[in-house]
Amino acid sequence: IIQVSNLKKSFGELEVLKDVSFEIQKNDVVAVIGPSGSGKSTMLRSLVYLEQVNGGSIRVADDFLVKDGVYSSSQQIKRITGKMGMVFQHFNLFPHLTVRENLEIAPQVVKGEPENVIRARSGELLEKVGLSDKANVYPAKLSGGQKQRVAIARALMMNPDILLFDEPTSALDPELTGEVLQVIKQLASEHMTMMVVTHEMGFAREVASRIMFMDNGEFVESGTPEELFTNAQHERTRAFLQRAL
Ligand code: ATP
Ligand code: MG
Repeated sequence: IIQVSNLKKSFGELEVLKDVSFEIQKNDVVAVIGPSGSGKSTMLRSLVYLEQVNGGSIRVADDFLVKDGVYSSSQQIKRITGKMGMVFQHFNLFPHLTVRENLEIAPQVVKGEPENVIRARSGELLEKVGLSDKANVYPAKLSGGQKQRVAIARALMMNPDILLFDEPTSALDPELTGEVLQVIKQLASEHMTMMVVTHEMGFAREVASRIMFMDNGEFVESGTPEELFTNAQHERTRAFLQRAL
């Protein structure tokens, strides 16, 4: 459902994405791994138009967000980015809204869906992430793991075709990491299409259908967890995994 070809992105002189190409199919759970500064976040942010690329194409389903470096109309961009949900490292919840309000605001404002439909879905999703009892609480009262589970439920409120995660557990204490990974794992078992930038190698190995290794602005190689962890083709991949494991 996502097709990326020859993506290029520079910040001034710094070339952060060099000719990045990949595809994500429906039901894929792709883990993206790679050293700090290799361009993982920039790549993910480019997919949802939080960064503008300097060249290449991003196609989502049948529509181009950007084609050969030329962006579609703003209306088209809104429609396309609306198909993708993003979960950030630092949760980015609205502090002045309750948990339930955090979930309901985008469907209300962006989609204008009926109140009862929205309420039913927020109830369902809070139950899914195990936070039904926190509906009326403000984010400041939640643990990091709970905040991140709210952020995941909030992203799901828009019924995205794909969920993108940028290091969803790296701001969490180790004992809170598991509860968030558990939610992502459950979504994987329900065949949610996902792309997860992560440093959690155990999680990547267990949950991902495919792992992509990024280094220095390029995808060096990708494969099943088995292929990458036991039989990486590139020296750079092997060196990274050796350090990471
Ligand atoms: P990490 O694992 O530490 O999160 P990353 O792989 O996500 O790293 P990016 O955040 O994509 O890496 O950054 C890639 C490079 O682009 C880095 O050298 C970073 O300093 C640079 N960079 C990122 N955002 C900007 C920006 N807004 N302006 C200038 N340089 C940037
Ligand atoms: Mg990053």
